[in-house]
Amino acid sequence: MQYLVLAPPVLPPSEPPSGAFALAAGLAGHGREVALLDLSLAFFERVFGSSKMASSAARELAYLRSTIGYEPGRHRTATGLLHKSLSDWGGDHPGWRLTLMDIEGPALAHDPVGLAKAMAKGSSPFAGLWEEVLDPLLDANRQAQVLVSLAYLSQVPATIELIAHLRHRGRRFFVGGSLPTSLAATGHGLEVLQSVLGPLELGDGSTLLDPGERLLDKLAYPHVIPPSAYFTSRPIVPVPLSTGCPWSRCLFCPDRGAPYTAVPMGAIENLLSTIPSEVLARHPVLHLTDSALPPQQLEGLLPLCEPSGLSFYGFARPTKALLRNDLVERAALAGCLMLQLGVESGSASLLARYEKGIDPAEARQVVRRAAQSGIRTYLYMLFGLPAETGEDRHATLDLLVQEADHVDFLNLSLFNLPRFCELAERAHEHDIRTGDYPMTGGIRLYTPFVTSHGNPRREARQFLAAHFRTHPKIRAAVLRTPRWLRPAHLGLMKLPGRSNLC
Ligand code: SF4
Repeated sequence: MQYLVLAPPVLPPSEPPSGAFALAAGLAGHGREVALLDLSLAFFERVFGSSKMASSAARELAYLRSTIGYEPGRHRTATGLLHKSLSDWGGDHPGWRLTLMDIEGPALAHDPVGLAKAMAKGSSPFAGLWEEVLDPLLDANRQAQVLVSLAYLSQVPATIELIAHLRHRGRRFFVGGSLPTSLAATGHGLEVLQSVLGPLELGDGSTLLDPGERLLDKLAYPHVIPPSAYFTSRPIVPVPLSTGCPWSRCLFCPDRGAPYTAVPMGAIENLLSTIPSEVLARHPVLHLTDSALPPQQLEGLLPLCEPSGLSFYGFARPTKALLRNDLVERAALAGCLMLQLGVESGSASLLARYEKGIDPAEARQVVRRAAQSGIRTYLYMLFGLPAETGEDRHATLDLLVQEADHVDFLNLSLFNLPRFCELAERAHEHDIRTGDYPMTGGIRLYTPFVTSHGNPRREARQFLAAHFRTHPKIRAAVLRTPRWLRPAHLGLMKLPGRSNLC
């Protein structure tokens, strides 16, 4: 083995981590011998397998791993009970709080220096994991270069400990991934993270290849070392159809203007054709990992999915490009289980102000036609934009009420202002006054803000509390949307009027 890609805990145990998988798939596509080990899944397996939790968790895990077509209420019970077990786990690990997607340690992950100091003083919940799961692999593959993929802040505590272990073992390793890459591009605190983790690699991993080669130009299904089965009834395969965003103009997007690149369809075809037969036999679902699915790339994917019976889901901008030539309907026939749709607001003027390129009337058509074709719809709504008024919020509420029969799941989020983006740069023009969080010297991706009218996030929070959780037409979608293990599980929910699952 030439490369061993490691994904440190904590990541949702429902699917392979997309960044680490893309790295491994790109290296495999370029003919490198590579294996991927999801240490996060191994960590959850240990947590739930501990004698205290085993009996209570086993039944719920069996449900999540084996049921084709989750029933929303039963799913809520299963994830709720697992979450409760994790709260109990916290009792045995003072200073730590674990959920199905995150971990908080004795100090904030935003403050890696403080976290490293605090962790050095106490015992860690990862103790023994590396020796048990990783060391046998390291011993068996002494020449393999170790690549640690760091995508989220939730992985920082374990990464601190993992690299200490690798150093102790005298292994050469590289740490990179989307967290350091985005901190370098648009965040603050890369140097703080580096002071704890050592040098960090930026970019997508193409530097591991020969000059001029690009990682995602050739893809193949990598060797995935299974510490256990994911907590999902069908295997999820992360597939990037593109990098960057085909729109790339939203004023508050930190990636505005970043280059967009379509992954060659030949690479996708090779990735799909190399899915191992034992994975294919379990009817895998492709998770299209694009920031926003490019309609042309989606067109290219459909003929690859239909004959092989592959299903898929992904995030798309709800624009008329999805309606042209019945793309939505054809996607449904080709196996699209769910579309995550960035509808964001019911106010056309608000969306135009931030150059979102979304028209609520068009977005409604996409939602309706997707649902009528049997595609589950998961709407992402954004509240608390600086210029949002009460009227705008009511327009959003009206949109959701009118489309209630076509809205399956809801993500209601409050706007965070990225620290570095066009909108932050033009704050005065947009009546925005930025501030700072009390902590100094740490990782910061966002900046607090107010406007001359007040605090839009606070107003939006009050509006959501007053209108959303209780509105009879919207409450059903809110209740249907589980708190944990989404979106991987949402495409696998059994819902009347939506596609059957087999
Ligand atoms: S659609 Fe999303 S990824 Fe694309 S520019 Fe807008 S916010 Fe950024």
